Amino acid sequence: MALRMSTLFLRTLREDPADAELPGHKLLVRAGYIRRVAPGIYTWLPLGMQVLGKVEAIIREEMQRIGSQEVKFPALLPREPYEATNRWTEYGDNLFRLKDRKDADMLLGPTHEEMFCLTVKDMYSSYKDLPLALFQVQNKYRDEARPRAGILRGREFIMKDSYSFDVDQAGLQKAYDAHREAYIRIFERFGFEYVIVKADSGAMGGSASEEFLAVSPYGEDTFVRDDSGYAANVEAVEVPQAPEVEVTAGPAHVEPTPDTPTIATLVTALNKDHPRTDGREWTAADSLKNVLVMLVHPDGTREPLAIGLPGDREVDAKRLEVKVAPAEVEAFEEKDFAAYPMLAKGYIGPGVLGEEKASKIRYLLDPSVAIGSAWVTGADEHGHHVIDLVHGRDFTADGTIQAAEIREGDASPTGHGTLKLARGIEMGHIFQLGTKYAEALGLKVLDENGKLVTVTMGSYGVGVTRAVGAIAEDNLDDIGLIWPRNVAPADVHVVATGKDEAVFVKAEEIVRELEAAGVEVLFDDRRKVSPGVKFKDSELIGVPTILVVGKGLADGKVELKDRRSGDRREIAVDDVVSEVTTEIAEPAPSL
Ligand code: ATP
Ligand code: MG
Repeated sequence: MALRMSTLFLRTLREDPADAELPGHKLLVRAGYIRRVAPGIYTWLPLGMQVLGKVEAIIREEMQRIGSQEVKFPALLPREPYEATNRWTEYGDNLFRLKDRKDADMLLGPTHEEMFCLTVKDMYSSYKDLPLALFQVQNKYRDEARPRAGILRGREFIMKDSYSFDVDQAGLQKAYDAHREAYIRIFERFGFEYVIVKADSGAMGGSASEEFLAVSPYGEDTFVRDDSGYAANVEAVEVPQAPEVEVTAGPAHVEPTPDTPTIATLVTALNKDHPRTDGREWTAADSLKNVLVMLVHPDGTREPLAIGLPGDREVDAKRLEVKVAPAEVEAFEEKDFAAYPMLAKGYIGPGVLGEEKASKIRYLLDPSVAIGSAWVTGADEHGHHVIDLVHGRDFTADGTIQAAEIREGDASPTGHGTLKLARGIEMGHIFQLGTKYAEALGLKVLDENGKLVTVTMGSYGVGVTRAVGAIAEDNLDDIGLIWPRNVAPADVHVVATGKDEAVFVKAEEIVRELEAAGVEVLFDDRRKVSPGVKFKDSELIGVPTILVVGKGLADGKVELKDRRSGDRREIAVDDVVSEVTTEIAEPAPSL
């Protein structure tokens, strides 16, 4: 049945909503797809439901194609399973917790590994029952610190989450590969530019994990890529260890460098008081900066960590977080300095850093610090630095850490050219969970030899409502949305204009014929609305093909308009069905 604008629950807005920042979000509200209820919480209106339905259908089809079966778990859940995996606590403030009338703790599911795991445990007990893949399309609840950009980061949002269950790693790998393929098809069909990046699997360590990012300036994730097709989240970039170099520096010497607690003041002082002998100027990159942080382990113990890196780079907080997880990173404060009197703040060097040195503080170096390279660094004495301190000759560290910032133009770890930085919106995440949840919840099956084995799981998510937001941000212009055909609220927007009743009668007829041919129609059949308003609305709503039925009818003509290119052409009324079906069958223009 055609959606009729005369009765459609819709009120388009001419003004941007005050609380929307991104262009796509503004247009989704203005064009009557969604409405805000509270920060990160949205109502879906009929037009929005159309698009959401298309997006969900694509996802369902591709999940079913790989043999995954749909289920649906409740969003309202008891505490116990999440307690068993420690996520009741681990999720922190992001978890919506509530109590029922008997004072029992409940939560609104932020993700459902526990429930899937327990249900499979309830029902299955043998290797013969596996492999198994299940999915659901379900509301998720996360009390995000910064709900943002409308449906891109909601507090209630829809996720498609799937889980695979296998007896061994080979099975898990197969399930993972199948999901990867399914995700590629899903994101191709959504029609946006995306990259698959090696994600970091953080605390879980080592397991395969990839993210699908929609390339977008509005993305919150930074990723790198090179010309060979390599792409990775900044957190996952592994900078290669710089190869050993021949020592050319003379003996290390301590020099007074008063009032140089920062790299900038140090470089200035060095060039003034201690010019290099090779004629080159000192730069920040010649200095070795030693950054102290405080790690807080899950059991509450605090452990200082020192990171040595070239002075022209900062420690990247996200990269560091991932490398030290599950410990958390806190600043090294005045009171911490007080507890380590051997640390001369502003002049800290490898002389005291290291598990074997005076401070006993673990000291990790950036991999770019080559064995044999010479540095200017703190002399562990206020107002003094040491020049020509050579790594491997004059100092060593306890190991390396991948925590320095990654910059545009850095050499690619693949050896192919340099890295480019771009931003992306995380659309999907595939992850070889392994046995973490199955172990915590006791999901075991009997193998061929009658021995109990722990099931190995994969977890795979797609942001469904986020996909609608990301598609909107990527498909718009100054006057409205322009949906890719695959997810548009209708195939064609038929606009009947004028006051002549005959126009409306003919338009009705055209709509009936189009529908009979399987074309989905949004029909502007409003009688007392001016053509100008109707055209504006059609541009705002963004159905990719617009058919105007109006004055030309007297000559047997209607107008077919392409929303994206703005191209318009007259066609004979009699050819409407064949013209429209050809037009909408065209592949969506590449974005
Ligand atoms: P992000 O880093 O963006 O917070 P995440 O790593 O927490 O995402 P997952 O837990 O892997 O996300 O969830 C799977 C998918 O669900 C994500 O890839 C994303 O598309 C979607 N998603 C996650 N959080 C939200 C949210 N607050 N609003 C809308 N979609 C979300
Ligand atoms: Mg998140």
